[in-house]
Order: sequence, then C-alpha cells, then structure tokens
Amino acid sequence: MRYESTTANVCFWLGSVLILVGSFLATAGFVLGTVSPAAIALLGLAPVVYGLELNRRATLHLTDHREAQITKLENLQVQIDSQRDAIDTLAEGLDAALMICDARGAIEYANGKARTLFRADAPEGKFLLTVTLSHETEALVQKVAASGQPEIAELTFSYPSEEVGLVKAWPSSGNRVFLSIFEITELRKLERIRKDFVANVSHEMRTPMTIIRAMAETLLDEDDDQLKEKYLGKIISEVDRLSSISQDLLILSTAELNPVRKQDCDIAEIFRTALVQLQIKAADKALNLKYEGPLQCLISANSAQMVQIAINLIDNAINYTSTGEVVVTLTPSTSQVQIDIRDTGYGIASEHLGRIFERFYRVDRARSRSTGGTGLGLSIVKHIVESHGGTVTVESSLNEGSTFTVILPTH
Ligand code: ADP
Repeated sequence: MRYESTTANVCFWLGSVLILVGSFLATAGFVLGTVSPAAIALLGLAPVVYGLELNRRATLHLTDHREAQITKLENLQVQIDSQRDAIDTLAEGLDAALMICDARGAIEYANGKARTLFRADAPEGKFLLTVTLSHETEALVQKVAASGQPEIAELTFSYPSEEVGLVKAWPSSGNRVFLSIFEITELRKLERIRKDFVANVSHEMRTPMTIIRAMAETLLDEDDDQLKEKYLGKIISEVDRLSSISQDLLILSTAELNPVRKQDCDIAEIFRTALVQLQIKAADKALNLKYEGPLQCLISANSAQMVQIAINLIDNAINYTSTGEVVVTLTPSTSQVQIDIRDTGYGIASEHLGRIFERFYRVDRARSRSTGGTGLGLSIVKHIVESHGGTVTVESSLNEGSTFTVILPTH
C-alpha cells in the first residue's frame, strides 16, 4: 500500500517535472536535437496520469479498508452491548444482592435484589451507609479496599426489616469493591426452629420420664396398697403421655417427609364421622356436637390426613370448652371448601393467636396437660392443610369461644 502510494507520487512528480521542463523549453524556443520540447512535455503526461490513477486506486482501497474497519468496530460494539445486556440480565435475575462501590463506599451499581432488599429505587451515587444503614457493611468494604483481600461476614441488617445476610466483599480493578449479600434469614430461622424443636422434644419427654422414675422409686419402698395403686396409675398416665408425644411426632415427621398422595375423598363424611367418634367424649361434658353442611363433598386430598385434621380440631374444641356446643360447618364453592370448627369454649387471648400453630406452644400448659394434649395437634393440622395448598386460621374471643377455619382446594 505504502509502496504503491510512493510509486504514484514519484510518477506524478516526475511527469510534472517533464511537463514543466518541456513547456518551459517549448516556450523558450529550445530544440534539443531531434527531440522537440513539446514531446518532452507530452511524455510527462503519461506518468502524471499513471500517478493520478495509482493515487485514485490507493484512495479507493483506503476507503474500503476504513469501511471494513468501521464495520468491524460496529460489530464489536454490538458484541460488547449484548455481553453487557447479558451481564445486566444475569445480575438482575440473581437472588443475591449485588453492589459495586468505590473505595469510599459510594455505590456505583446495585442490582434489582439490592434495590428491593434495601428499598432503594436509585442507590447509585449514594453512600453504602445511607442505603443499608449498616456500619458493619461499610466497615467491611473499607477493609477490603484497604487490604485488597476478600472478606466474608454474617451480618444482621435492621433496615427496612430485620434480615440476616451472608456478606462477601472482594476487590476489583480501579480500587472498586464488589459486594454480594445473600439473604439467609429464613435459613437461620429454620435452624433456630429445628434447634428449639429438639430442645422442646427433649424437655417434653424428660418431664414424664422424671415423674415415672420418681414414682417407681417410691413404689420400691411402698407397702401401702392404696398408694401403690395411685402411683401405678400415675405411671401409666405418664407412659400414655410419652406414647402420645411419640405418636404425634411420628405423624408430623411422616407428613413432612412424604409428598401428599391425593385421592378422591368425601370431606363431609370424614368430619361427620369424626364428630360421631368424639360424641362420647363430648357427652361426658354435656357438650352438643353439630354438623351443618352437605352430606357429601368430594375433594382431592389424602383421606388419612383429612381424618387427622378433623380429629385434632374437633378434639381441641371439646377439650377447651366446658359448656355449650361445637359446630362444624362445611361450605363448598367451585374450587374450594371452607370448614369452620366453632366452639363456645375458653377462647384464646389475642397475644397467643399468632403462636398457637407453633410446635409445643400451649396457652395454658396445665390445662393442655390435663386434657392429655401434646402441644403438637395444631402444628400437625397446619402442616397438613398447607401441604394440600390450603390455609388454616383462627378467630377467638376470650371466654366466648373460638372458630378455626380451614380452606382446602377441591383439586
Ligand atoms: P394441645 O395438645 O395442647 O391441645 P394444640 O397444638 O392442639 O396442642 O393446641 C395448642 C394450644 O392452642 C393449646 O394448648 C390451647 O392452648 C390452644 N387451643 C387449641 N385449640 C383451642 C380451642 N378450640 N380453644 C381454645 N384454645 C385452643
């Protein structure tokens, strides 16, 4: 290319010189032997034209080359744009909050999760502390910026709601710090529930076992037949209690471990049968048991588990009612069925309503104990209902009664 342009220039200038010299000599009236100056000038025309032609071609070539370069650059830009789009989409879709900060902690980028986690529409340009209200996060970023080493910490954020996050910060080029926050609030909550559960189970089982041991020791030295009978009765009731707890734990863990196997079942018949089964217990307290609703109501559910929720809810209603009635009302609609279990019993104070579905939670331990309750009945109900895609709620007024409402999808 360079070679061609040099040739073109040489030709052009050589031709031009010849033309000039020829023209000059012709004008001056010189004649060089047989060679006329006009011929010299004309001779110069050829290299000039050739030089011009070469230059024209070189310019054309240059234009083509430039256009190819521009197309290449445009393609590169398209590629960069599409890669940036892909990274943006990836960052936006991540379940972790992602932020890029400068060394002072000013936010340069925040993905969608970060914006929702800290309820900040446009955090870019603001300081990390202003957005997260977390001094620990700010300190972590500053530490990473100063040391150039990545850091991981489990931090609790108090704004806008209390969340636990696994925070990782790592350095990047340009003295930036990348920050990812993975929410582990639910995980920590589940861990706490599991630990509490194990502690509760141990506690619940230790109490009857301690009683049984104390009674058995007393019996060893006891000659009085009447006392022996009393202690033996107590031992039997504590053993029954232990077996109720283990039975309920087994029901709960079976329900948790196995997927729901649904079949057609008549939920109206299940509740009516449960009422009949508990009739004798209700009659002991002179309670009236009633059923209101259709005689038949087919839904798709696990019938054994439906029997379980019917027994647990009606049994509770009888246990926590001293006078009056227990009414089961079934209201089917197109896609769901509502079952209300209403009693005229002790009721539940509002401060307990949010917790009664927790495992081993009882409003009144002594009362629950006297009814042979394990504190697991409602948590079993809640688990079964929710695993069927339904809901269970309660409304209650102290000393007036309670209504437990179960809503189940029909399919
Ligand atoms: P429990 O075995 O103690 O009955 P549950 O899980 O079935 O355990 O119920 C938890 C607690 O909720 C009970 O100890 C009781 O205090 C309260 N509760 C449940 N059902 C009723 C009801 N129908 N009326 C009043 N309190 C109830």
